[in-house]
Amino acid sequence: MANTILTTILAELSPKAVTLVAVSKTKPQAAISEMYEAGQRIFGENRVQEVVEKYEALPKDIQWHLIGHLQRNKVKYIAPFISVIHSVDSLRLFKEINKEAAKNERIITCLLQFHIAKEESKFGFDKQEVIDFLESDVYKNAKNVNIVGVMGMATFTDNKQQVRKEFQHLKGIFEELKSEYFQAKTDFKEISMGMSGDYQLAIEEGSTMVRIGSKLFGNRS
Ligand SMILES: *Cc1c(COP(=O)(O)O)cnc(C)c1O
Repeated sequence: MANTILTTILAELSPKAVTLVAVSKTKPQAAISEMYEAGQRIFGENRVQEVVEKYEALPKDIQWHLIGHLQRNKVKYIAPFISVIHSVDSLRLFKEINKEAAKNERIITCLLQFHIAKEESKFGFDKQEVIDFLESDVYKNAKNVNIVGVMGMATFTDNKQQVRKEFQHLKGIFEELKSEYFQAKTDFKEISMGMSGDYQLAIEEGSTMVRIGSKLFGNRS
């Protein structure tokens, strides 16, 4: 019934022109094929080895998004094909992505990940780190990475007020970066926030890209 769920979610997203990243991590290729047959082309994965295997096996017009924490020594495996990396969270990682993209004669689209949740474990830049990054020569001289927005994960909690505040925080960061560093860059416009449990809230707070896994594919074991 992939079709029905997909249609329902797309009907919620399309009036607001929100992009759906179907998060297929841990799910078998058959489940992705089913979603592909129903028309979905953007899939999100959080592990390098898994996205490489799925890329090799599945249709080449799929746009693969890397949404999980990325180690520098693994960038080379995804650089030939990855469509968007949501999880750029340090200058050192950015530098590596730029290097591997250049080797592949590509420009890789990226989002800057921010730490907006209360949990310690979630990755991302904080305010001062991103300022240092955007003012660095490494950033200014990089030709093979295109930064088009921001990404964040809210705290895993039932407290909607908390989650809403965290999404507002990310939207605020986006607006600040846009006016201070990306004013002339019309394609700096993406706010990747919202998962199965909180994407409606995220859209209310200005999300342009939601990353939905379990609601589409069923719970992960
Ligand atoms: C797993 C994951 C998602 C999707 O989570 P669901 O709750 O299954 O929708 C979204 N974003 C990131 C970064 C994830 O790791």
